[in-house]
Amino acid sequence: MTRSKPNILITGTPGTGKTTTSAALAEAANLRHINIGELVKDKKLHDGWDDQLECYVINEDLVCDELEDKMEEGGNIVDHHGCDFFPERWFDHVVVLRTENSVLYDRLTKRGYSGAKLTNNIECEIFQVLLEEAKDNYEEKIVVEMKSDSVEDMNRNIAGLTEWVRSWSPTT
Ligand code: ADP
Ligand code: MN
Repeated sequence: MTRSKPNILITGTPGTGKTTTSAALAEAANLRHINIGELVKDKKLHDGWDDQLECYVINEDLVCDELEDKMEEGGNIVDHHGCDFFPERWFDHVVVLRTENSVLYDRLTKRGYSGAKLTNNIECEIFQVLLEEAKDNYEEKIVVEMKSDSVEDMNRNIAGLTEWVRSWSPTT
């Protein structure tokens, strides 16, 4: 597949900074930010609300159909806390954001998470669930882990990724 600009997946546990990082990177590197959660809600690409998990049940086939043309075109940043249902060929780079437990705990409580939802997400980060999922689904050489504890971390990540986008070419 030939695309003129790369596609990047930004994944990680909720609260690690995917959306903030993706939005800033989209601006800096002139890419399109696709927030899967928002897309699912806006275009109703789900099979209803899961009361227990307190989130929409994503219809993965509908999401992939919706995105296929854009991904073929290139120049996308896909922002999602999961990556096992996207076609492997879509991505040139897979970023897994990582956050220190205590920092993540504060971010998630600030977001109003408590009880099982809070514990599940903290455990998800402790057990490196998203990192393992990324390595299981993509070539290890395109998967990069990035620390996202502070604003300095985020700025460094955005600068590094912007440089990566600038130097990317369809043949590499
Ligand atoms: P996600 O999309 O992964 O759930 P968000 O981008 O919504 O995470 O970030 C969650 C909260 O944490 C936001 O209030 C954001 O401003 C803050 N945040 C995210 N990344 C960082 C970081 N690297 N340093 C400081 N604050 C951050
Ligand atoms: Mn988000």
